[in-house]
Amino acid sequence: MDADVLIIGAGPAGSVAAKMLKQLGHRVVILEKEQFPRFSIGESLLPQCMAFMEDADMLAAVTAEGFQFKNGAAFSRAGKLTEFDFTQKFSAGWGTTFQVPRARFDQILADTAEAAGVPIHYQQTILAADFSNPGQASLTSVDAKGVQKGWSAAMVLDASGFGRVLPRLLDLETPSSLSPRRALFTHIEDRITATDYDRNKILIAIHPQFHEIWYWLIPFSNGRCSLGVVTPAGFLDQRSGEPLEVLREIAMEEPRLAELLVDSRFDTPANTIGGYSANVKQLYGQGFALLGNAGEFLDPVFSSGVTIAMKSAALAVPLVDRQLRGESVDWPVEYEQALRKGIEVFRAYVEAWYDGRFQKIIFEEHQLANIKAMISSILAGYAWDEKNPMTQRSANKIEAILATYPAD
Ligand code: FAD
Repeated sequence: MDADVLIIGAGPAGSVAAKMLKQLGHRVVILEKEQFPRFSIGESLLPQCMAFMEDADMLAAVTAEGFQFKNGAAFSRAGKLTEFDFTQKFSAGWGTTFQVPRARFDQILADTAEAAGVPIHYQQTILAADFSNPGQASLTSVDAKGVQKGWSAAMVLDASGFGRVLPRLLDLETPSSLSPRRALFTHIEDRITATDYDRNKILIAIHPQFHEIWYWLIPFSNGRCSLGVVTPAGFLDQRSGEPLEVLREIAMEEPRLAELLVDSRFDTPANTIGGYSANVKQLYGQGFALLGNAGEFLDPVFSSGVTIAMKSAALAVPLVDRQLRGESVDWPVEYEQALRKGIEVFRAYVEAWYDGRFQKIIFEEHQLANIKAMISSILAGYAWDEKNPMTQRSANKIEAILATYPAD
């Protein structure tokens, strides 16, 4: 066999899982489709993911890079600004993190795993998988020259992100419960001089007319920002022109962004991605488990993607370790249920964001300090913290908080 564990994809889920498995003494090989560095969307991290990088002994390398510090989230709607400071959160643990150009961040994680002894084979696209032989999983990859190669291991972790390799090959895909949306985004030289702008926070702004349309402004440490807008599917088709011009035009419709970005240079072509919300029938099977986006992806609004990806790695690794040592593992309970618990919490807040209820909570002026701390915990990624009342029966909690507000 080529390894104890083959990992498909060297994104955050794959690299963190590989490094953690290596720390436990297993032979791990990563097969990655692209040559790194490569662009990826998803640049605002949440404090919860710092603990996973710490456990994987990768945080020092990430911290040394000097990425933009992040300590919270700011929201803007119709001239109203509000902020959440993640250091004032309810849950224990990290209250700060970074905002990262992903090409560099993912490269650091992958290089750290490789330096620890995990071979990464770049430009190997997985084409086929065979799990019919208990105890030996097989993959087939093709390289950039079209040469195919077979690989085998006791177990496969699919961390292929939006590639969703095993869900597609094994017919595990199932539609997301969330409405289809499209994002349009770029990197800009921001030239922001407004003295009341806090680079330590992601800015989420809401379109003045359409509350379902929202923007992100994610500052980096090099004077540039990631800027994007998320719209219902079909909305962007109504706008004609170059994608970068369309993005600038829509951004200028939001007063806070119009004020901040007045001198910005839109110097990079815009990209678009749609239909990204996805789900699977199950997150495991004989000889494999799905990590990160290869399993479920909800929505970008709370920047939860990388955190969920790393959480899935942190949950799966001890189970893989036990399985490799011949112990029995209850994958439905110990992996699927455990991971989905937090995903369901995020889902409740994502749904309430788009129907306007969570936006109302976020902009409430007279928020009680303890409620604000609990919300900060969710926004900081602590969706698995069962001590936080807002992670328990979240949909009901949202209603209960709204019921305390004066009628409009
Ligand atoms: P990825 O990072 O996608 O890595 C998967 C890897 O697998 C890639 O390197 C890919 O090349 C490789 N691969 C794919 N197919 C194959 C194949 N056939 N064979 C071999 N390798 C393959 N998340 C955040 O945390 N913060 C944000 O601010 C944020 N913003 C977002 C904005 C938008 C518009 C969207 C759509 C998502 C956003 N996300 C954000 C989510 C984030 O992009 C993902 O959740 C995160 O990258 C998932 O990590 P991963 O390791 O599961 O997969």
